[in-house]
Amino acid sequence: MRILIIEDNHDVARQVRIALEEELYVVDVANDGKQGWFLGDTETYDAVILDLGLPILDGLTLLQRWRQDGNLVPVLILTSRDTWREKVAGLRAGADDYLAKPFELEEMLARVESLIRRASGHASPVLKCGPVELDTSSARVTMKGHHVNLTAQEYRALQYLIQHQGKVVSKPELSEHIYEQEVERDSNVIEVLINHLRNKLDPELIQTRRGLGYQLKECDGGP
Ligand code: CA
Repeated sequence: MRILIIEDNHDVARQVRIALEEELYVVDVANDGKQGWFLGDTETYDAVILDLGLPILDGLTLLQRWRQDGNLVPVLILTSRDTWREKVAGLRAGADDYLAKPFELEEMLARVESLIRRASGHASPVLKCGPVELDTSSARVTMKGHHVNLTAQEYRALQYLIQHQGKVVSKPELSEHIYEQEVERDSNVIEVLINHLRNKLDPELIQTRRGLGYQLKECDGGP
């Protein structure tokens, strides 16, 4: 899962980034509104954390522009404490949720998780595909109840595939959601990664659709 943080306070941006990376998210950071708007317009994110007070382009205007352009990425806005007007304006501009500063990182993580879950139509933090269970709140994966050790990339790929079960996911799409922007994306790397997942979980779990990408085999207990 890939998250964009748009925040001009470098300390806050760094703390949020570290907390998200510890939960295995891929994170990009923009320090002003213009750069943030551009990244959100050109890259694909699973959620955005948006500070409202930003240099060059303020957060509300940025959000309104995305929504007018049909960009429906889930957005969590960061507002100042005790300013209900800001929260209302943010929600009316198209924010999905808000968090008042200062906030606990745990709460931020819970809200981001919940945004992503809702956007993909899952109500529970535990994603299932047959005997495979992925708990997004603890970043743990089990197979028939036994813990399976996955690398961060393997975990992200599996999470993305389970959240998009029933659909064919192309290699570039998968790659965008599991690697940082600056990493060179090689389609062979994705193939190797998918093979590792098959070996660790179930050889039949992820099916190759020639020339199109990958699809999870039909899951019992899916959405
Ligand atoms: Ca600010």
